Amino acid sequence: MVLAQLGGSISRALAQMSNATVIDEKVLNDCLNEISRALLQSDVQFKMVRDMQTNIKRIVNLEALAAGTNKRRIMQQAVFTELCNMLDPGKPSFTPKKGKPSVVMFVGLQAHNDVHSGLGHRLTASNPTHKLKAVKPLLVSGSSGKTTTCTKYAYYHQRKGFKPALVCADTFRAGAFDQLKQNATKAKIPFYGSYMESDPVKIAVEGVERFKKENCDLIIVDTSGRHKQEAALFEEMRQVSEATKPDLVIFVMDSSIGQAAFDQAQAFKQSVSVGAVIITKMDGHAKGGGALSAVAATKSPVIFIGTGEHIDEFEVFDVKPFVSRLLGMGDWSGFMDKIHEVVPTDQQPELLQKLSEGSFTLRLMYEQFQNILKMGPIGQVFSMLPGFSAELMPKGHEKESQAKIKRYMTMMDSMTDAELDSTNPKLMTESRIIRIARGSGRPVRDVMDMLEEYKRLAKIWGKMKGLKIPKKGEMSALSRNMNV
Ligand code: GDP
Repeated sequence: MVLAQLGGSISRALAQMSNATVIDEKVLNDCLNEISRALLQSDVQFKMVRDMQTNIKRIVNLEALAAGTNKRRIMQQAVFTELCNMLDPGKPSFTPKKGKPSVVMFVGLQAHNDVHSGLGHRLTASNPTHKLKAVKPLLVSGSSGKTTTCTKYAYYHQRKGFKPALVCADTFRAGAFDQLKQNATKAKIPFYGSYMESDPVKIAVEGVERFKKENCDLIIVDTSGRHKQEAALFEEMRQVSEATKPDLVIFVMDSSIGQAAFDQAQAFKQSVSVGAVIITKMDGHAKGGGALSAVAATKSPVIFIGTGEHIDEFEVFDVKPFVSRLLGMGDWSGFMDKIHEVVPTDQQPELLQKLSEGSFTLRLMYEQFQNILKMGPIGQVFSMLPGFSAELMPKGHEKESQAKIKRYMTMMDSMTDAELDSTNPKLMTESRIIRIARGSGRPVRDVMDMLEEYKRLAKIWGKMKGLKIPKKGEMSALSRNMNV
């Protein structure tokens, strides 16, 4: 996952610090330098890294800390807070309301090589786009994913009861209208665009007016991708914005954008009033730090992230759970939501009770594996569980992970009730392990592996002991509790 490497490096730096016998200024500085290096390597803007370093130092002011305070904890909390601050501009974005017409305009970058290679071109009546459909795959290679994201955004709101509509005011990229039309048709969302008209302002205004008349409450205007060097295209974007008066302008950015992110994002912000950011392709292997810098440049919150090519691979973005996940602390609020969503209702009280007792038995692990196998895209849920995602469930290896879980379950099928219900790891003696291996037809090594996994998870879940389990909708309190 994007930024996974960054999260790993930061967690390692923090772990190294806690291994030190005495935590003095040098150890703290080493840790901070390590974290800064990781951020820079992930393409986070230099100034932001420097500011963050200063802030953390201020928070962890050694002198001010009373003897005996847990410095590692304070440091971890400071890193957590700073990363959250970096991603949180402190003001929420506009949110559309059902039944009241809102106009949302999408803007974003187009890869340099696309624009300057001569493939990008202005439409004219004698050069209608649909004849050039075949060139589209070449053009999308460096795209931010804006058109796809427009549809995802529309679809997300449609499922929430909105009446969305899509307007294609991208008259620059060949095939843009065709693409939007195809996506919209699949999602059964009304759309507007033209093969002949070359003026994006005209199309945008006509589309918005038409859908307002049709009582659509979320009118989404897709515009051409552009670069900050392209003054004419920026002027055009400003004109579309002026003519349609959007309630919200969303800047779409590909997570693979590097150090250039800050300047590009700032250029957009200076031309139109960007109010929110969506980062796409978070499922890839990009470094992702540039996207973090964009938040600072636009002073706007990230509201969604794209996690795949499909229309529903789109997630609401929440800063705290995201940073928790990044630092390997798990996304507790997302996890709790998922429990409510996917664990059968009659099993929920028992599971939550057990979690609050901190007792994690092999049977509980078995039951959760069962639930997870039943509910489809297991990666989604596991990525929210602290400790699960990276090791048991690496993204992109869902099939292998699923096979591993099934293997674990086969071995657990050969265990006795007493073994499944025990919370005492000493119970699993050598003779029991050999018996389970024989019974399940697996090598002893596999049984040991499964028990190791169980111990690792039991340790993490044990941290929930004594927690007041919140009801649905009360998750933020829990995530606050669990942040560190
Ligand atoms: P635009 O030119 O900026 O409008 O970009 P497009 O919407 O045409 O998308 C470019 C490519 O990126 C397409 O192949 C999309 O399927 C793909 N894409 C968009 N969002 C995501 C995402 O979140 N994850 C992945 N893996 N691919 C995406």
